[in-house]
Amino acid sequence: MNIKAKIKENISLKNLNTFQVGGMAKYFFEAKNRESFVDALNWAEKENIDIFILGGGSNIIVPDKGIDGLVIQMKNIDKKIMGNRIECGAGTTLSQANSLAVANNLSGLEWSCGIPRATIGGATRGNAEAFGAKMADIVENVEVFNKSSKKFEFLSNRMCKFDYRTSLFKQKNNYIIWKVILKLFLSNQKTIQDKVDQALDFRLSKYPKLPSTGSIFENVDLEKIKNENSKFFNKELKNRFLKDGKICRENNIGAGLLIDMAGLKGKSIGGIKISLEHANHIVNTGKGTSEDVVMMISYIKQQIRHKFNIQLKEEVIYFGF
Ligand SMILES: Cc1cc2nc3c(=O)[nH]c(=O)nc-3n(C[C@H](O)[C@H](O)[C@H](O)COP(=O)(O)OP(=O)(O)OC[C@H]3O[C@@H](n4cnc5c(N)ncnc54)[C@H](O)[C@@H]3O)c2cc1C
Repeated sequence: MNIKAKIKENISLKNLNTFQVGGMAKYFFEAKNRESFVDALNWAEKENIDIFILGGGSNIIVPDKGIDGLVIQMKNIDKKIMGNRIECGAGTTLSQANSLAVANNLSGLEWSCGIPRATIGGATRGNAEAFGAKMADIVENVEVFNKSSKKFEFLSNRMCKFDYRTSLFKQKNNYIIWKVILKLFLSNQKTIQDKVDQALDFRLSKYPKLPSTGSIFENVDLEKIKNENSKFFNKELKNRFLKDGKICRENNIGAGLLIDMAGLKGKSIGGIKISLEHANHIVNTGKGTSEDVVMMISYIKQQIRHKFNIQLKEEVIYFGF
């Protein structure tokens, strides 16, 4: 196959990320099957071109100057039911996987309903999570392409090194997730549908309607900030979170609460604004650029450091910066 003929040039990435910011990909390819995926990787290596893997674009900021490399969007969406397991190509969206699970009376993925565009590959890499459930609970095996050995390999759940919002795939940029096997459990369809509806209702009521990229910052470990003696505990919320010097509520504090407490909701920079609905989401009001986003992130971090002596960490990925 002539792979070069299938690689497009100068493709706008604006509509391929939920934030709707960013410039062009110099080269762009949709990986729908194994053979052409490997051909595209080999072509990039031969031409000495950097590669960037794109899922649904729901957790990234794309630079305004665009990406000088080959963006490969995972579009392998083959799905197979095997008893209580679902085998999904990495490009399968969470929503497609959910529909298949519901139709087959399989429970375990309902928490992810309503996360727009996100793929199984992207969700596995970032160990996506909501309502106390996470990808690490349901991923049984992952088939990856190992960029060093240039071979497909299977990794067990344990080998994936899942942790809060991270995995082996995030820590080591050596693997591209090709396929994921999810282990779910049989349940009653009405119970599953009720959980799906709850997740959808929650997201519809709490999430901003304007383009965004989900949570910008990771939540903060209360134990860690307690030990670092932040101003947060000393002044603001001692009574709420500590009893006799011990943490008496959940172990994490939402970054959104800190941003809200700092009075930053509604703050705008250029076309980017901190959402009024959820302070850990920033939204694109129409003409936002990735430069606006970067400035806003830096501003929020500086304000939270100043007010609480807490260093926020980005959950969102700087894609090709
Ligand atoms: C409105 C909204 C709500 C959200 N709610 C939640 C939530 O409740 N919980 C949550 O955890 N997240 C949430 N998110 C964030 C996001 O959707 C998830 O983190 C999602 O899993 C990202 O998947 P993606 O396919 O869009 O990845 P992308 O954004 O395309 O990529 C993210 C990163 O993963 C890498 N990547 C993608 N696919 C692969 C692959 N196959 N192999 C290797 N690397 C890959 C990319 O290179 C990039 O570094 C939300 C986002 C939005 C917009």
